[in-house]
Amino acid sequence: MHDPVAFRSLHRARFHAEPAVFAAPGRVNLIGEHTDYAEGFVMPAAIDFATLAGVSPRTDGKIAIYSENYGEERSFEAAALPAQANHHWSDYPIGVVKVLAGEGHRIPGFSLSLWSDVPLSAGLSSSAALVVSTALAVESLTGASYPGPVVARLCQRAENEFVGANCGIMDQFVSANGAQDHALLLDCRDLSFRLAPIPPHVALVIANTMVKHSVAGGGYKSRRAEVEAACAVIARHRPGVKFLRDATLDDLDKWGREMEPKSLMRARHIISENLRTVAASEALLRGDLEELGRLMAEAHASYSRDFEASCVEADAMVELAQDLPGLIGARLTGGGFGGCTVNLVEQAQAAAFSEALGARYTAQFGMVPQIYICHASGGAHRLD
Ligand code: ADP
Ligand code: MG
Repeated sequence: MHDPVAFRSLHRARFHAEPAVFAAPGRVNLIGEHTDYAEGFVMPAAIDFATLAGVSPRTDGKIAIYSENYGEERSFEAAALPAQANHHWSDYPIGVVKVLAGEGHRIPGFSLSLWSDVPLSAGLSSSAALVVSTALAVESLTGASYPGPVVARLCQRAENEFVGANCGIMDQFVSANGAQDHALLLDCRDLSFRLAPIPPHVALVIANTMVKHSVAGGGYKSRRAEVEAACAVIARHRPGVKFLRDATLDDLDKWGREMEPKSLMRARHIISENLRTVAASEALLRGDLEELGRLMAEAHASYSRDFEASCVEADAMVELAQDLPGLIGARLTGGGFGGCTVNLVEQAQAAAFSEALGARYTAQFGMVPQIYICHASGGAHRLD
C-alpha cells in the first residue's frame, strides 16, 4: 500500500480526521563501514522503500499512535509521556516527541498513523524511516521547520537517548537528506555532505543472508576498542590525530609495530576504507562504474580480512554474485557478522540476477534469502 490515498483513508477511518502525510525512506550503505565513529566518511543511498506517517491534531490532550505493520494502537497523555522506553515499537515515535519537547516545543495532542514497506529489522533502517517520518509529522503540528541535517541529529538522539539504540547518524541523515538517483557522501566529522549521481540504469540489489552471528566478546564493542587503541598509538607520535580519520597508511608503516596485531588490522581497514569511500564518490561523479565496482570489491576484502566483520554466508553471497551478468560491484553492508550484501546491478539484468543469486545461495546454505531490487530515492518529504 505505497498508496497515499489508501493510507489517508486508513487514518480517516480510525481517527475521524484528515491527516497531513509525510514519507521517509530506508537506506542502504554503498561503502564506508565502521568509519562513522572514526569521524570518517560513509556513502549511503536512500531507497524506494519508505515509512508513511499521517498526523492530525486532537483536542483531548492525547497522543494516539497506530502502526499498520503491527495492527496495534497505543495512547498516551501528551502531558505525561513515559519516562522510559518500554521495549515496544512506540518507543521510537515517543522518543521523537520527547526530543522535540526537550527542544522547547509545546506538543499538542495528536493522532499518528504509521505504515511502512521498509522490511523491519532487515538492515534497511526501518527505524530511521520511522523516526524521520514521525519527526516531520510532529514538527508540522508545532510550526517548527528544521533543516534536514538538524532533523537527522534530533532523530539520532531519539534513538540513542530514548530507545537506547547505539546507532550513528548515517541512517537518519540519508533518510532526511537523500536525493533521487544519488548516493550521499557524508563526512561524519562535520556532517557536510555531497551528492553523487547513480545512473538510473543501475539497480541496488540488496540480498539478506538471513543470518546474524553473535560474536564472542561483542563484535561492535571490541572492534571499536581496537580502533581506538590503534588511534592512541598514532596520537603518541602525532598529537594532532584525534581519530583515525586524521591518520594515514604511512602512519601505520611507521608505528603499526607498536600496536596489537588485531588493532593494526582494524586500523588498516578504517584508514583505507575512508580513502575508498571518497574515491567511490569521485568515481560516481565521473560516471566510472567499473572503478566503483573495483572499490566495492576491495572494501569487502578489507572488511572481511582486516576487520574480520564478515562471515561464511556473507562472503559466499558476495562470491556467488561475481560472475552473474549485470554485476557492477558487491559487498557486505552494515555492521557486519551477517545481514545484507549490496549489489550494484544493471537494471535490465536485476531480476535475473536476483533470481540466480537466490538460487545459488539456497543451493549452498539451504536458506532462501530475501532479495530486494531497489533504486536510489529522494529523502523525507511531505506528500500532498
Ligand atoms: P532496522 O532499523 O534495521 O529495520 P531496528 O531494530 O533498528 O532495525 O528497528 C526496527 C524496529 O523499529 C522494529 O522492531 C519496530 O520496533 C520499529 N519499527 C520500524 N518500522 C515500524 C513501523 N512501521 N511501525 C512500528 N514500528 C516500527
Ligand atoms: Mg535501525
